[in-house]
Amino acid sequence: MKTIYTFGNGKAEGRADMRDLLGGKGANLAEMNLIGVPVPPGFTITTDVCKLYVSKGREAVVELIKDDVVKSIHHIESLTGNKFDDPDNPQLVSVRSGAPISMPGMMDTVLNLGINDAVAETLAKKSGNPRFAWDSYRRFVQMYGDVVLGMKPQNKTDIDPFEEIIDKVKAEKGVKLDIELDVDDLKKLTVLFKEAVKKNTGKEFPTSAWDQLWGAIYAVFDSWNNDRAILYRQMNQIPDEIGTAVNVQAMVYGNMGNTSATGVAFSRDAATGENIFNGEYLINAQGEDVVSGVRTPQQIMTEGSRRWAELQGIDEEERKAKYPSLEETMPECAAQLVEIQQRLENHYHDMQDMEFTIQNGKLWLLQTRNGKRTGAAMVKIAMDLLREGQIDEKTVIKRIEPTKLDELLHPVFDKAALDSARRVAKGLPASPGAASGQIVFFADDAEKWAQDGKQVIMVRLETSPEDLRGMTVAQGILTNRGGMTSHAAVVARGMGKCCVSGAGEIKVSYKNRTVEMGGKTYHEGDWISLNGSTGKVYDGQVKTVDVDMSGDFKAVMDLADKYTKMQVYTNADSPRDAKVARRFGAKGIGLCRTEHMFFEGDRIKAMREMIIAENVERRKAALAKLLPLQRGDFEGMFEAMSGYEVTIRLLDPPLHEFVPQDTASQEELAQELGVTLDHIKHVVASLKEVNPMLGHRGCRLGNTYPEITEMQTRAIIEAAINVQDKGFEVHPKIMIPLVGVYNEIKMQADIINRTAEAVFKERGKRVSYKIGTMIEIPRAALIADQIAKVADFFSFGTNDLTQMTFGYSRDDVGKFLNDYIKAGILKNDPFQILDQEGVGQLIKMAAQKGRATKPNINLGICGEHGGEPSSVKFCASLNFDYVSCSPYRVPIARIAAAQGALEN
Ligand code: ADP
Ligand code: MG
Ligand code: MG
Repeated sequence: MKTIYTFGNGKAEGRADMRDLLGGKGANLAEMNLIGVPVPPGFTITTDVCKLYVSKGREAVVELIKDDVVKSIHHIESLTGNKFDDPDNPQLVSVRSGAPISMPGMMDTVLNLGINDAVAETLAKKSGNPRFAWDSYRRFVQMYGDVVLGMKPQNKTDIDPFEEIIDKVKAEKGVKLDIELDVDDLKKLTVLFKEAVKKNTGKEFPTSAWDQLWGAIYAVFDSWNNDRAILYRQMNQIPDEIGTAVNVQAMVYGNMGNTSATGVAFSRDAATGENIFNGEYLINAQGEDVVSGVRTPQQIMTEGSRRWAELQGIDEEERKAKYPSLEETMPECAAQLVEIQQRLENHYHDMQDMEFTIQNGKLWLLQTRNGKRTGAAMVKIAMDLLREGQIDEKTVIKRIEPTKLDELLHPVFDKAALDSARRVAKGLPASPGAASGQIVFFADDAEKWAQDGKQVIMVRLETSPEDLRGMTVAQGILTNRGGMTSHAAVVARGMGKCCVSGAGEIKVSYKNRTVEMGGKTYHEGDWISLNGSTGKVYDGQVKTVDVDMSGDFKAVMDLADKYTKMQVYTNADSPRDAKVARRFGAKGIGLCRTEHMFFEGDRIKAMREMIIAENVERRKAALAKLLPLQRGDFEGMFEAMSGYEVTIRLLDPPLHEFVPQDTASQEELAQELGVTLDHIKHVVASLKEVNPMLGHRGCRLGNTYPEITEMQTRAIIEAAINVQDKGFEVHPKIMIPLVGVYNEIKMQADIINRTAEAVFKERGKRVSYKIGTMIEIPRAALIADQIAKVADFFSFGTNDLTQMTFGYSRDDVGKFLNDYIKAGILKNDPFQILDQEGVGQLIKMAAQKGRATKPNINLGICGEHGGEPSSVKFCASLNFDYVSCSPYRVPIARIAAAQGALEN
């Protein structure tokens, strides 16, 4: 077993594609050597060794790799001419963790390892720069203490013992910056640091370079199973087995004086995607100084430096004096960096995020990786690389992270307008997007104002289900209480609507209809603006711009359509949703829930009348009132989706959801309907179910009250004929919910066909329609071959199917789900990410059985999973015809569907 891979001086035993074995950092350090980029020599201990460390323990691993570590250190020495653990000619190294997938929970890097008092003296003499030597030493003691000896506080609010000492020394001296400390101060720091270590750990600070090295190696391996790392893996679905590599690398010093520096760079703009090389650096600094905020970093490129200064309000003279670019301070290194970043980009065919250090005027690269970027940059960079001939179309599709597209679908603030806006509060970025509007405090006001054509923002202490209709018409929602999973946040995200929640500093008064923010009292009707992506609230009306669905975004979507084999439909209950989804590229409606339509305006009255009715005649009379309303709804849907299929699901929820539960409302209803309160109470009580999710709902309603199915069918067919008469193309699909038994769908289909024929006869014309069912009860999956005799299509209702397959109530699962995930019993929430292993098997079986009866049976999915990338890909692997998801997820599903097709 090869446990260690060396690199250095243009040679390497590893390669970029050995990321699983060497980790991302190690694989790229090797690769950079192979393409002639200057990288300090070093070696990588493989992830396999980490796996052994976890399974077999420390001793076994030391035994296994001891000789190789010594040999590999000699490899470094042979290339640098220095010696590890030698006070006369010392070689220092860094020890860096690096997993195959970038993992913030892992051990931090330790720099300058191998130093002690004698070595520091030598470094001071040899470099002629004692400050450098002692700066390196005190940094090392701190890093080693924090990282290896576990002195770094686990709690963010606790103070690092070393920082405390630094602050004290600086205060005594009356200085602010680390670089203002002189050699004696740094020596003093080192001594104090070591004392702190002794006090904290009860042991002397290790002076032997070898002891230090092994300590650091163990610490990297141990960090694989620290709480932070475990949690991060859980949250990001990273397998526990992959392990981390350890990189040991010769130090290069950015803190050797004014011809030394350290920095980070990006080959393109990570925010906008523009092809502009950019980055930051600091002279006489080390490691993460650039990003740690201890000093203001300077720009690498002069042009970028000028732009930066302008934003900061710094004039050109001051910029040149205080914050010159690397091009200005070290032009040769800057030119070399420009050349190398291009070489790396051309080599990896992607935007690179690089770390570099300059030691006495010589440039070294310490890391390169594909850079993180915003959704906008992701799309632009992929398309630019395609146009530049660096990648092909299929690679463009693979490069798109589906969920990141979400950032691009919501309106954003105009940049210039935002720069001059005044911020008045900050809350949680609960649901992305930008919105401006006039303040209203109550849902009914929101509705009224919106009807008058006004743009409103709902400001609430918190929201509740009664606010739903107000939220629907508002541009955005601002709440004082509630977190990222509060009602407001969850509902707003579902609507794709901008929301800032939990803005604790705002003072809302419903009584006065005012809100105080940023030292000003805002009244109802005053304008404010919200940025749901940052949680910031601005005074007045900040101009927003709608998403640009042309350009690169469209180009990427067109590519997705070119390679996909599956259509993306939308779940939409209103023509408005249907239109949004169509704009996002939905090719039909996969789920239109009719029950939502019953809640609006007068409908709820007619609906209640129908439920309260004590006989069929009365019920039919009530249904007759609902008929024209439903027909109107369906006409709207058919028009909005002209040319595409519209799947309408018959009434699904249990009836008790439609009747009032409190006495006051019941009394009101009794009066309206001219019946006694007792009667109402009797009906409500009779509707009560112990377990309504498994109760009288779905097709069970339609089979016990056939007149409901009759009315709905009539509304659908009449609407289809009317809209067709207007010249639109209609493709209605009637979907029967909650089928588990063959006779259930058979009876419903008979009613539908009979009713449709009656309408055709009355109208003297026909429309074609399809009948299908949700497959959402495990039994339906098991007898799918029978069901397919009647059904033209199956739509997998994976919410209910997951509920009934696991036996977890969707409404109560929250009580234990998090504990289950934490304990590793479940990998993730099966209601969000389709459980391919269990529920997926039922889906697969139902698809096979359905196809056995009816080879061309139309297959789709309409649960929450229809917009979740891994679930969409699963559907693609089964050659489904479509997935259906909420409007704002349509582009995400389109990309995932194309990726699925490419993976098959
Ligand atoms: P991370 O994974 O957190 O980026 P790194 O291992 O890349 O951690 O290192 C942290 C910092 O130390 C980076 O700025 C890196 O460039 C620097 N660094 C790492 N190894 C060396 C080295 N051998 N010489 C000089 N600087 C180094
Ligand atoms: Mg790094
Ligand atoms: Mg269902």
